[in-house]
Amino acid sequence: MELLTSRQLVQAWTRLNRQQGRTIGFVPTMGALHEGHLSLVRRAVAENDLVVASIFVNPTQFGPNEDFNRYPREPERDAQMLQQAGCHALFLPQVEDIYPAGSSTRVTVSDVTEQLCGLFRPGHFQGVATVVAILFNLVMPTRAYFGKKDYQQWVVIRRMVTDLAMDLEIIGMETVRESDGMALSSRNRYLTPQQRQQALAISRGLRAALAAYQSGCREGHELVGLVMKTLEQAGIDRVDYAALHQIDSLAPAVRADAPSVLLVAAHVGGVRLIDNLELTTP
Ligand code: AMP
Repeated sequence: MELLTSRQLVQAWTRLNRQQGRTIGFVPTMGALHEGHLSLVRRAVAENDLVVASIFVNPTQFGPNEDFNRYPREPERDAQMLQQAGCHALFLPQVEDIYPAGSSTRVTVSDVTEQLCGLFRPGHFQGVATVVAILFNLVMPTRAYFGKKDYQQWVVIRRMVTDLAMDLEIIGMETVRESDGMALSSRNRYLTPQQRQQALAISRGLRAALAAYQSGCREGHELVGLVMKTLEQAGIDRVDYAALHQIDSLAPAVRADAPSVLLVAAHVGGVRLIDNLELTTP
């Protein structure tokens, strides 16, 4: 696996491989990799001539009181995992490779960002859209792979790509979970065993709502109520939101008649966790 540690190196790699007509799959990450990230890499390996992953803990998407400084950083372990998954190149930029001196251009996606996580993490999606746009310009991928675990992010990126006429395909991948239902996340490692047990209520609540949906329930407040009840019973008292939205547009939904998604953000032991589940009929 090639290690690309600067803007110049990744641009040279991209130029060479595009000239030779190779398709490039791209998996942007913040590192501390797990099976969720690797599922994106494996799919990218299956669909492209070459795959490049990036690891960059992007300062502009963290708020002042968030976990930027303590976000886990373990590039050697990550590089090994990527290599084993068949990744061809790893882009490991420094902050100045992404934001050169004087950097003052930001990408703002409106509407879809003005709800859900956007309300609780001001500036977060501007940081995400900006870094992803810069990474796309450097890597010039044929396809880029995102997890639906970060459902709103996935919608924001698709909006940006359409609006800015970016010439690539965005692929969304299902959330990889532990056998007990917990969504894999780099932030899970902050949790003590007891907190992890409590956090399990998030996926359990979503599954309870899915079961109700599968039995015919379509009322948004009932579906959301089931999630909230499960969180309350587990003693999770800081819930940023539990809400029903339409898939694709992410417009708020009163009922789940059209394909919908239930989204949750809640705090457990000072760790902010998100999860979601699509409610769609086969
Ligand atoms: P992150 O490193 O958290 O920025 O995530 C990098 C990419 O991996 C994003 O597209 C995430 O949505 C995706 N991802 C994170 N967790 C999971 C998961 N449990 N299953 C699938 N994809 C995931």
